[in-house]
Amino acid sequence: MLSAAQTEHVFRILAREMPGRTRGAKGPKGQPDAFRSCISCMLSAQSLDRNTAKATRALFALATTPEAMLELDDSAIAAAIKPCGLYNTKTRSIRRFCETLIAEHGGVVPDTREGLMALPGIGRKCADIVLSFTFGKDVIAVDTHVHRVCNRIGLTDAKTADKTAAQLEERSPEWALRDGHFWLIQFGKRVCTARAPKCDTCPVAQHCEFVAGEARGRS
Ligand code: SF4
Repeated sequence: MLSAAQTEHVFRILAREMPGRTRGAKGPKGQPDAFRSCISCMLSAQSLDRNTAKATRALFALATTPEAMLELDDSAIAAAIKPCGLYNTKTRSIRRFCETLIAEHGGVVPDTREGLMALPGIGRKCADIVLSFTFGKDVIAVDTHVHRVCNRIGLTDAKTADKTAAQLEERSPEWALRDGHFWLIQFGKRVCTARAPKCDTCPVAQHCEFVAGEARGRS
């Protein structure tokens, strides 16, 4: 893994080169409140963004609160969210999530990671997305792009997105927590792409462990 000084330098380069929250970048999911953000995140599991968007549009046309959601039949929820796949399982998760939210929090989504992760269907990724984008906390949410990029560069050394998130929280400079998700996700889409990373023109290549490993393999 990179040293603390290298990690700081990588984030400085990303801050200079990539758009961040404070420079107008938009967050994922684009939902207007914590309840809809949680549901949207649950629906996004193993689903393409465009299919998740279709499912959330259809579902939130029917209900936008936990109480209203529980008024719906399972068949109505399942039909609305069908585009995002696994709709029977996701319907059950939505129902359990709404029941627990009402029973334990009066229908109000908690604004702590612990509270969020104690709700059915909410893992670390969803919790961090809601904390960052709905509650405005300084948290780097880790999706597949962020996970890939961090472990290629050597910012982290983790097999799962949740472990990457935990390592990032520990190792990132505090000033990078607010915008870090945006820099890393844009970097993963524009430069360090999954199939064809643009290493020749990459601004952090000097520190990248993936490039160093490739060079060692050739020598
Ligand atoms: S040098 Fe290549 S692998 Fe490393 S961060 Fe840049 S694009 Fe990704």
